[in-house]
Amino acid sequence: MKKPVFAANWKMNLGPQETREYLKTFLEHFPRTDDRTLMIFPPAISLVVAGFALRERNDIMLGVQNIHWEEKGAFTGENAAPMARDAGATVALVGHSERRHTFGEGDEITAKKCAAAFKAGLTVVLCVGEKIEERDRNTTQAVVLRQLKAGISRLTPAQVAQIAVAYEPVWAIGTGRTATPDDATAVHSAIRRALKEVVAHRNLDIPILYGGSVSKDNAASLLAAPEVDGLLVGGASLDPETWATIART
Ligand code: PEP
Repeated sequence: MKKPVFAANWKMNLGPQETREYLKTFLEHFPRTDDRTLMIFPPAISLVVAGFALRERNDIMLGVQNIHWEEKGAFTGENAAPMARDAGATVALVGHSERRHTFGEGDEITAKKCAAAFKAGLTVVLCVGEKIEERDRNTTQAVVLRQLKAGISRLTPAQVAQIAVAYEPVWAIGTGRTATPDDATAVHSAIRRALKEVVAHRNLDIPILYGGSVSKDNAASLLAAPEVDGLLVGGASLDPETWATIART
């Protein structure tokens, strides 16, 4: 059976000192395990401290929340993928709804970031998800599949086989509303069918995570839904004990 994936997106929270304290508490509550994959995405400025705190825990992957698609240059305030790799990240979050809708990043930018991540030796968690008005117009699957196909358009099939996808309905992020397990299953199935067309592997092993207001109360029912291979957690990952509880689901 595929290992479930639990990913924590801290967003713009927890600077270096707070990261040190958080991870000390978290590691006390989360003993080493090999039956699940864990990823933690701190702010870029906390990556090095997080890497040091996790130096004896290679069961936990460190990720970067955002990268620029260029390797270096005049992009004040940005972080390049090779820099994130150098700081200890092995995976990049790409296409998060806050990048798409707060920072105006479209499909083309998402595709360039996915390619930049692989070029730097990072894998990718590609986020896709519809806005409430797109859901109301019954265009959820069309939107999600467009974002998915565009996001992977610059990757080789072998690279696509290494990504994870996170389905995060925009209306569920940080709102306390979640997709029902049935809704998540329907979208995840459509994503998997689309991926199968690209990656002709018999046993397509790409994890498809659900994200959007996951809490310790709803984590088990969402994870039990068919086709849900893991959870991407924002707000509820900011407390180390709550995150440890969710990550043990
Ligand atoms: C996220 O940031 O990816 C997310 C799912 O946030 P939240 O869990 O707070 O809805």
